[in-house]
Amino acid sequence: MNSGKTTILIQTAFNYEERGQKVLIIKPGIDTKGNDTIVSRIGASRKVDYLINNEDSVINVLKNDLENINCILVDEVQFMTKKQIEELWYITKVFNIPVIGYGLRTDFKTNGFEGSIRMLELADELLEMPTICRCGKKARFNGRLINNEYVYDGDIICIDDKEDVSYESLCGNCYLKKVRKISKNDF
Ligand SMILES: [Zn+2]
Repeated sequence: MNSGKTTILIQTAFNYEERGQKVLIIKPGIDTKGNDTIVSRIGASRKVDYLINNEDSVINVLKNDLENINCILVDEVQFMTKKQIEELWYITKVFNIPVIGYGLRTDFKTNGFEGSIRMLELADELLEMPTICRCGKKARFNGRLINNEYVYDGDIICIDDKEDVSYESLCGNCYLKKVRKISKNDF
């Protein structure tokens, strides 16, 4: 579930470090099976400093680092809990450390992720990373495919290895047509 965000994250880390600044990369532990390496679509990879589990306090986990870092980058920020997003906000305002979160607005059913909703509410700045649908329009949604067929049922986080799950960025028109199978004739 990745639309080039990890590429931008790795590039941002590089930009900071090139200027002698210290960056921490964190990621929700969910869906990673303990894998602490993030890989971008164009092949760059990078080790995550901390995998944060849902029940963890982000501030507790990062406590020893908060004195000497310049920026925190969060991969897959949508999987953070509401409480953890609030902690990231405290880090930016109380500890004065910038936090940049990279993630998706909505799940494959078009509903906002808990972490993303809270982030949209609290963030100082939002930057959209445009992804293009196969039809050429701007993609705002994600369709889930199981064995190459779009599905509309299932858990928000799919960690079942048995099925061949993939995601495709879709514009609203293609999402309704391909995933929901809705057309004018339905009305
Ligand atoms: Zn489209």
